[in-house]
Amino acid sequence: MVIVMKPIASQEDIGKIVEKMENQGYRVHKSVGDNYCILGLIGDTNKIDISQLEANAMVEKVLRVHHPFKLASRLFHHDDTVIQVGDCKIGKGSLAIIAGPCAVESEEQLMTIAREVKKAGAQFLRGGAYKPRTSPYSFQGLGEEGLKILRKAKEETGMPIVTEVMSHETFDVVEEYADILQIGARNMQNFALLKQAGKSSKPILLKRGMSATIEEFLMAAEYIMSEGNHQVILCERGIRTFETYTRNTLDLSAIPVIKELSHLPVIVDPSHATGKWAMVEPLSKAAVAAGADGLTIEVHHQPELALSDGGQSLKPEKFAKLVESVYRIASVY
Ligand code: PEP
Ligand code: MN
Repeated sequence: MVIVMKPIASQEDIGKIVEKMENQGYRVHKSVGDNYCILGLIGDTNKIDISQLEANAMVEKVLRVHHPFKLASRLFHHDDTVIQVGDCKIGKGSLAIIAGPCAVESEEQLMTIAREVKKAGAQFLRGGAYKPRTSPYSFQGLGEEGLKILRKAKEETGMPIVTEVMSHETFDVVEEYADILQIGARNMQNFALLKQAGKSSKPILLKRGMSATIEEFLMAAEYIMSEGNHQVILCERGIRTFETYTRNTLDLSAIPVIKELSHLPVIVDPSHATGKWAMVEPLSKAAVAAGADGLTIEVHHQPELALSDGGQSLKPEKFAKLVESVYRIASVY
């Protein structure tokens, strides 16, 4: 349930309502916009008498939130959330570009790619040190050694690091090195991991599960937020459909749907969505045209030798061309 306070309501008026609701056992989330202050109530609000609350002279209106997600809902927080990492922003009109290899393979590989993506205009460097692979026989990532290489690349290029955290056991070490912690599609409903991410002070890049509905996706974000971490970036990365020509099917409609339902930034991963490098640029353009707040793109200088996802990785020159065209599209809006 949300209580919209009148624009003339003073801090004291707002405080009185907050106290009243807290005394009744609700958690109150306060969101202050340019004109309105919105109080989001968390708890079993079915017993609340709306007309009684609306009788308060300082209350504009009271709305029941029919979605199971609350903190992630736009009703609770009207303005777009902007996540600041160093000098870079994600959300509300600034197009964030995250790029790098699927996995950190060696210092030479990551440094080469990091320099190239930086030159092309990426703001964030991605790269997995702990890799969720379908086969236990495939390259699993360099672990902490990979994190150390990511840190070196950050020191040289200044780009903040986005890297995946896969498990409870490795959470602390990944958190130490990462600027943004990625939770992958396969872990979107690992509720224990989501709760742990909710206690972190670092932003979380949450990827949509390959068979998750948008509501389940937003409920996963809610898990993180309900533990206190409101810095969540949602990433549409393709879902499983009957179509097998592409690795997954990019659900472009998720962008406007999520923008309507939630205030959280939404980015798109066209690399995992398609599994084919030649489709990454057209779908990046489509994602930006549909309102995405950013892109995460796999780039490799020698895709034919990549230890994972070479077939969907762009060579640096192709990535540079993509960046130029998506910025042109973004400038139209
Ligand atoms: C990744 O981004 O490296 C990755 C493994 O993606 P996803 O979790 O979307 O499959
Ligand atoms: Mn990958």
